[in-house]
Amino acid sequence: MKNHTTWRVGGPADLLVVPYTEGDILNVLQFAGDHGLPITVIGNGSNLLVGDRGIRGITLKIAGGLCSFQIKGEVVHAEAGILLPKLARLALDAGLSGLEFAPGIPASLGGALVMNAGAFGQQLGDIVEEVVALDYQGNYQVFDASMLSFAYRASDFQNGKQLIVLKATLRLKSKDKQKILAQMERNLNLRKRTQPLSFPTAGSVFRNPPGDYAGRLIEEAGLKGFAIGDAQVSEKHANFIVNRGNASAAQILDLIRFIQEKVQKEFGVTLVPEVHLVGEGVA
Ligand SMILES: Cc1cc2nc3c(=O)[nH]c(=O)nc-3n(C[C@H](O)[C@H](O)[C@H](O)COP(=O)(O)OP(=O)(O)OC[C@H]3O[C@@H](n4cnc5c(N)ncnc54)[C@H](O)[C@@H]3O)c2cc1C
Repeated sequence: MKNHTTWRVGGPADLLVVPYTEGDILNVLQFAGDHGLPITVIGNGSNLLVGDRGIRGITLKIAGGLCSFQIKGEVVHAEAGILLPKLARLALDAGLSGLEFAPGIPASLGGALVMNAGAFGQQLGDIVEEVVALDYQGNYQVFDASMLSFAYRASDFQNGKQLIVLKATLRLKSKDKQKILAQMERNLNLRKRTQPLSFPTAGSVFRNPPGDYAGRLIEEAGLKGFAIGDAQVSEKHANFIVNRGNASAAQILDLIRFIQEKVQKEFGVTLVPEVHLVGEGVA
């Protein structure tokens, strides 16, 4: 799985399937049901810590396969496998505002919907009109945005619902292309200045606690640069853990726990991971 996560960490999946059509997914669900195999759905693996022993059963990777899109006026219909930077580029080309935050986030649309990805005061949930998903029995479910409880890095899809996000309808706003481009460039430059983009990471490791920043607390606790094996608290941004080369999931998990204990002891604040733990050895 290290080839399918941006942390470049994770043991083998028994079976990894990248579906190209909704029919492929229905076939996988049928096969999994017939053989009693568990299913793990992933997007582009940019918010995942996969255990060193990997993932049993079928891993369904939605990113990369289901990528079609259609733009009609200010409305964008896109399948869940399309990557956010690509979607942002399409919106820019169509003169549509709302995805200025998205370049630089290596997420699939599906994963970004599950996480309600956001940055720089924007979040995906704000522009969602409708999401279509499949349950593991193969039934289609359609959700109006108001049904999905989008909040800071949260949506109803995270509540153990066992749903596969297939596609979404987004409503953007017409705007001058030069202004959209300028905002995207400002956002990307800020990322380059503040984030360790030359190392494998999973973005922010912890959610920001109410009224504060996880990165500030970790830095104040003196942990910038602290390492366990090849897993290191970034020197550039303390809420990122970088893989210096051959970090294992166990080392990253040990570092996550160490940071949590230290910040709890120093400041009485419980840091909650934003990254999702998947597979054997971490979950
Ligand atoms: C360099 C870098 C920068 C980042 N910057 C940001 C940022 O600015 N803002 C931000 O919010 N995040 C950021 N992230 C984190 C990450 O990109 C987001 O959390 C993103 O939403 C994860 O999308 P993904 O497709 O990679 O999902 P994954 O990491 O593969 O999965 C995340 C969760 O969603 C579930 N999931 C994924 N796809 C589906 C689907 N189709 N159906 C059902 N469930 C699914 C998975 O089971 C898992 O629980 C960054 C990460 C990196 C590496």
